[in-house]
Amino acid sequence: MYDNSAFQQIKQRVDIKTVAERYGLVFRHNQCKCPFHAEDTASFSINDEDQYFYCFGCQTGGDAIKLTELLFKISPMQAAKKLNDDFSLGIQFGRKAEQVETVKRPPTAAELQRDFDIWVHDTWLILNGICWLLTDWKETLLPSHPRYKDVLQDFTAIEGLCNIFLQGKRGIQLIYKYHKGDIKRYFSKYEKFLIKE
Ligand SMILES: [Zn+2]
Repeated sequence: MYDNSAFQQIKQRVDIKTVAERYGLVFRHNQCKCPFHAEDTASFSINDEDQYFYCFGCQTGGDAIKLTELLFKISPMQAAKKLNDDFSLGIQFGRKAEQVETVKRPPTAAELQRDFDIWVHDTWLILNGICWLLTDWKETLLPSHPRYKDVLQDFTAIEGLCNIFLQGKRGIQLIYKYHKGDIKRYFSKYEKFLIKE
């Protein structure tokens, strides 16, 4: 049903850890907190050699396409195309894929809901990354450091936002979607550090 060769090519051309990092996961060595279940320890790990991920907490695992699928709650085809676009892989998809792509109609309520869920998930991923970053700074900066107070303040705020996006009420998340000044401000302040890491 899918253009299998395109899928294979994508997997050969992307590195799963690079994909995971690009989509917001923050690693210590090859491990990080799992984006698919709530946890305090880092059970999510990457196997560089075989190019797959696996979570020892919730037993979720798979390749780079599967990871993209799950992170963005999209189909395997959409995940393959997203990787193709985001990493400029330049892979041509077969005719079946084109046909799927060219269907144009207004989005259904379920699709709008899914888009919203994806937005919530993406936002949470970045917030979670910032949370880790600030945790790190909190532990390594001396209290006398000029940035220390700011980091403490932002950490508390970011932690609150993380919770809203991880398990908060849809109504509150909606408010943030349409009045996202705070989130935008934190993203522009810290996102550059995430990319660097
Ligand atoms: Zn997990």
